[in-house]
Amino acid sequence: MLEIKNLHVKLEEEDKQILKGVDLTVEAGKVHAIMGPNGSGKSTLSYVLSGRDGYEVTDGAAELDGQDLLEMEPEERAAAGIFLAFQYPVEIPGVGNMTFLRTAVNAQRKARGEEELSASDFLKLVREKAKALKIDAEMLKRPVNVGFSGGEKKRNEILQMAMLEPKMCILDETDSGLDVDAMKLVADGVNALRDAGRGFLVITHYQRLLDHIKPDVVHIMADGRIVKTGGPDLALEVEHNGYGDILAEVQ
Ligand code: ADP
Ligand code: MG
Ligand code: MG
Repeated sequence: MLEIKNLHVKLEEEDKQILKGVDLTVEAGKVHAIMGPNGSGKSTLSYVLSGRDGYEVTDGAAELDGQDLLEMEPEERAAAGIFLAFQYPVEIPGVGNMTFLRTAVNAQRKARGEEELSASDFLKLVREKAKALKIDAEMLKRPVNVGFSGGEKKRNEILQMAMLEPKMCILDETDSGLDVDAMKLVADGVNALRDAGRGFLVITHYQRLLDHIKPDVVHIMADGRIVKTGGPDLALEVEHNGYGDILAEVQ
């Protein structure tokens, strides 16, 4: 479903190569995790897939269901089914969370050729999904992420994901800064969305999230490349031994 080949990316502003040939295929129905030391390019990979400014693809390709992602505008990628839960969710002052969700959901439905949800159907859906994530009605009324705690922001990202039902969900360190209970809510939210037609790319610094979101495949990224791929055991190996052994092995 998501197919990345030999992806090379540099910063637009400076002559700095960050991704140096990433190869990765995420099949429908699978959860792939990416781990790796700080600065290895994990966030850059997710930004480039979502179409964020500031990066230049110098070689390689990225496709979703055979569609060239790199040629699309960010909103076209979202309509095609890419969703990125950010490491640092953005605040949008002046835009109510509920309005934001409704606009996003209806834009997504329109792009898929489906009818808009009625106000009452939308309300029913958002309340049901918010409840599962322990997001209260008051949080839905506030401006997007403004004054939300770290945990509330992350849960709100998962609510957006649950409402949009994307094909390919990318989570960039959605667990960072969460206490155990909030992390479990996030993991439960992700697990509820696991489906034969949907792929996940879960980027995490720590193994603990993967105790709750069991990955099918684990990749280690270092210095702009995927240097090792394995099963869930690979995450446990990192937890126990750090990255040192793996990096020494591949150098
Ligand atoms: P990770 O998410 O694995 O910690 P990042 O993708 O955030 O890694 O960063 C990879 C490297 O690229 C780091 O050395 C980082 O400093 C650099 N980098 C990424 N974005 C920028 C930017 N906008 N300006 C300067 N350096 C950047
Ligand atoms: Mg980082
Ligand atoms: Mg990062």
